[in-house]
Amino acid sequence: MEAFELMPIEKLMRPEGFDCECGVHHAVSCKYLKIARGAIELLPEAVRACGGRKAFVVCDKNTYAAAGERALRVLARAGIESTLFMLSEHGYPKVEPDEYSLGSLAMRFDTSCDIIIAVGGGVINDLSKILAFVSNLPQIILGTAPSMDGFASNSSSMVVDNVKSTLYNRCPAGIVLDTEIMAQAPMRMLQAGFGDMIAKYISVCEWRISHVVNGEYYCEHVAALMRNALKKIMDSADGLAKRDPDSVGAVAEGLVLSGFAMSFAKVSRPASGLEHYFSHMWDMLALERGREADLHGIQVGVGTVLTMNIYEDIKTLKPSRAKAEKHMREFDTAAWEANIRRVFGKTAPQVLAIEETAGKNDPLKHAKRLNALIENWDVIQDIIRAELPDREWLFEKMRVLGMPMTPADIGINRQDTLDAFLCARDIRDKYLSASFLWDLGEIEEFAEKLRSK
Ligand SMILES: [Zn+2]
Ligand SMILES: [Zn+2]
Repeated sequence: MEAFELMPIEKLMRPEGFDCECGVHHAVSCKYLKIARGAIELLPEAVRACGGRKAFVVCDKNTYAAAGERALRVLARAGIESTLFMLSEHGYPKVEPDEYSLGSLAMRFDTSCDIIIAVGGGVINDLSKILAFVSNLPQIILGTAPSMDGFASNSSSMVVDNVKSTLYNRCPAGIVLDTEIMAQAPMRMLQAGFGDMIAKYISVCEWRISHVVNGEYYCEHVAALMRNALKKIMDSADGLAKRDPDSVGAVAEGLVLSGFAMSFAKVSRPASGLEHYFSHMWDMLALERGREADLHGIQVGVGTVLTMNIYEDIKTLKPSRAKAEKHMREFDTAAWEANIRRVFGKTAPQVLAIEETAGKNDPLKHAKRLNALIENWDVIQDIIRAELPDREWLFEKMRVLGMPMTPADIGINRQDTLDAFLCARDIRDKYLSASFLWDLGEIEEFAEKLRSK
């Protein structure tokens, strides 16, 4: 098989995809991709390439001003009809990726439209992807900021019954990223895109570790694709601070590649590890309290700093079977449940239900994972050394961009950080560093280190 990770981005979109040695057929359903200065003018070409005639254009008030209004004019000039739908906040500080927003999108959908254009980034793209998936219509994303890696992913990060969840659907048919428009996005959104990408060092590392411990599916080619996307972005960090459209373009390409990697793997594993769970947890806590969470990538950036520091201690950790077994023996289900109820409030029943299928606290499953951890500890250490960069080098890149680095920088208190770390393993069935530290009976000591930092 050809090493697709070395191919130019357009080649990755070939309709026949790639029969990989990992056993999975890797393909994306993306037909049209343009990342360039002035790319918004090519929107009519993108609509035609995706087989559309009348577009349902989804914006919020910010993205309407940034690109939506102009997109409608560009379409009209080319003789393409459109219906505009503006998402509203319905009482929250910003549009939430929840049942209400999706319901309002579905109720107001103009059935004479045969293509959906999402103007914006994270939430609007996530909602539109689901609408496109259930209506079996093509979707185009017209990005307004390089703030996250979901442009080309096959999933939506949604709030389902108040729990942050990944819903799998389909990669958009068209991706149009105008680097001049994106370069004018608020600096915090540029920082967020960078934050969502530096996370991938950890994501790939934890994906490999879970492969070793649980035999979870892993593809070295997809991991290599993600590493290449990451390199593209790290090389452009300095230009990003100056809003140089070409650097923004390189970052945007990295974000699209990251989405392709997720679509290829069919899971979010290559793109999210513990650093993302800090963000997911903070989102859930904010939602529970009716407060506004920070941007995904900003929170993920802070989560990356915390997780890099945790790995610094993991590097010198010597696992003890006796300690791990004692921790499991002394596990108190009632106390664990009470803690989940304290942290998650009205969402606790949904979080508790995850354990019924995941079995993280089941002593037999724990024994199996513990054996794998102890037997492979050297291999795991090699993976950590190979995948994670020097943390000072990484932190310096963040400082150049003026990024928030600590929970306090984004108004998150110590308790919420500790709860995020301790409950990260409970909100989804995903094996993270927090999961293996729990398995080794080390989680409380690591939480104590986090508290003192
Ligand atoms: Zn593969
Ligand atoms: Zn992300």
